[in-house]
Amino acid sequence: MTTTLTPLDQIAPFKNEAVKDFSDPADAAAMRAALTAVRRTFGGHYPLVIDGRKLETEKKIRSLNPANPQEVVGLTSAASKEQANAAIEAAAKAFGSWKHRSLVERAEYLFKAAALLRERRFEYDALLVYEVGKSWVEADGDISEALDFLEFYAREALRYAQPQPVVPIAGERNELVYIPLGVGAVIPPWNFAGAIMIGMTAAAIVSGNTVVLKPSSDSAIIAAWFVDLLHEVGVPPGVVNFIPGSGSEIGDLIVTHPQIRFISFTGSKEVGLRINELAAKPQAGQKWIKRVIAEMGGKDSIVVAADADLDAAVEGVAVSAFGFSGQKCSACSRAIVEASIYDEFLEKLRARVAKITVGDPSDPGVYMGPVVNEGAVESIGRYIEKGRREGRLIAGGGRIDAQGYFIEPTVIADVAPDATIAQEEIFGPVLAVIKAKDYDDALAIANNTEFGLTGSLYTRDEKKIQRAREDFFVGNLYFNRKSTGAMVGAHPFGGFNMSGTDSKAGGRDYLLLFMQGKTISRKL
Ligand code: NAP
Repeated sequence: MTTTLTPLDQIAPFKNEAVKDFSDPADAAAMRAALTAVRRTFGGHYPLVIDGRKLETEKKIRSLNPANPQEVVGLTSAASKEQANAAIEAAAKAFGSWKHRSLVERAEYLFKAAALLRERRFEYDALLVYEVGKSWVEADGDISEALDFLEFYAREALRYAQPQPVVPIAGERNELVYIPLGVGAVIPPWNFAGAIMIGMTAAAIVSGNTVVLKPSSDSAIIAAWFVDLLHEVGVPPGVVNFIPGSGSEIGDLIVTHPQIRFISFTGSKEVGLRINELAAKPQAGQKWIKRVIAEMGGKDSIVVAADADLDAAVEGVAVSAFGFSGQKCSACSRAIVEASIYDEFLEKLRARVAKITVGDPSDPGVYMGPVVNEGAVESIGRYIEKGRREGRLIAGGGRIDAQGYFIEPTVIADVAPDATIAQEEIFGPVLAVIKAKDYDDALAIANNTEFGLTGSLYTRDEKKIQRAREDFFVGNLYFNRKSTGAMVGAHPFGGFNMSGTDSKAGGRDYLLLFMQGKTISRKL
């Protein structure tokens, strides 16, 4: 029997990109050089890109360095409503030819984009340090994940390019093929400003769609860089149109536009629900039901059972709660601890949190940088004030007296399971610790929010693990490890309930969300 090699057989299997820890002096030197180089670009202007043409507008979005907001990292042109409409028209025009490129050909663009991004990795890392306040390691983790998305979705496209299995019927030749949807709106958040923006865009275009990319106003520059990179590797004009602009000004227009076929959104519950509602109403001239892929907020718990390795649990909670200042959808914002070990856990946690260094993340010794903007400082501050009344402050609680948006790592103990700070997403370095009567009580508390994104359990008891597998209702469940740090391919990511549509980014089902199946049957 002869076998035919497909493009998928000819490339190495997917492997996660290794994250730099910067202990290698060469990596550290490269990062320092990149920080200097990117600093030289401060104040630069980044235009819109519509149909491959750059367009400078009068209205600008300023990206500030959250560690020192007097520094303007750059200015992005803001799209007007007319320009947003023009971008959607350009995407619709480009769809006419892009949809006819094969999945194999489109995958090639992603491989090329990954290669070029890998070459520029330290510059992208440095930009994330300045634009959103990531530490070196967090920034490199973000760009590594972006590389993973490009490499993974390219291989997924090759997989979908292969014949799909259908049951044979005598006298007919039957096929199932996947075709793209049309023009999509890609609306990412700022917190994984590289990975999520790149992953959402790459998945949409490799599947054959064309898009308008509306980046977060807090991280528009990295998106401008990436759109340029895609054009450098030859992605044709109009396939990715870049229209920064305030969500409240052009968001509704994009979402309700009759030519928009799907919306790929990652962000807060409030905005996600609004998009879902608006997209459900057909507009004049609209021929389809819009598809909404919405990944939203979390209120993630780590349950610490009485039999847990306490030191490991404390470490996992601290890292999950305070990595990138708690600004991850997967961040642990509730530690739910069985009563018999509660006091000991709190003591160990307090000691561990005291070791967290806070400061300007361009310094490689800093673990926790600033929060993203002044609005975040205010909103997190309000939650801390509320938390002081709802529980017992045992660490942090204040804004750090520095130029930037720095907040101390904050732990509030003795929080009731239904308290505001135990229920609402704070998206900052604030951890609520809740005492559970026993393991059953702990699991019930873990499931008592409207969200269902990530969760962890620390235990050595196999029965407790089995019970959690069944009853801990989250999209990403972890045992004896942190609740953050999902790896592409290994931990497909997405949540239940108000955490979103469980799209499982970085998993084998993801590209299907950007395509529709067409059955073709021919009588022989
Ligand atoms: P956000 O405020 O909801 O914004 C997300 C995106 O939506 C931004 O590009 C924003 O643009 C845009 N937007 C705002 N209003 C809009 C509207 N009316 N119509 C259309 N678009 C609109 O969220 P964020 O602060 O950027 O990100 C943090 C949130 O994302 C947290 O809730 C976090 O849990 C969630 N998140 C979830 C996941 C996940 O996989 N589940 C991953 C990461 C983050 P502007 O910036 O211009 O307002």
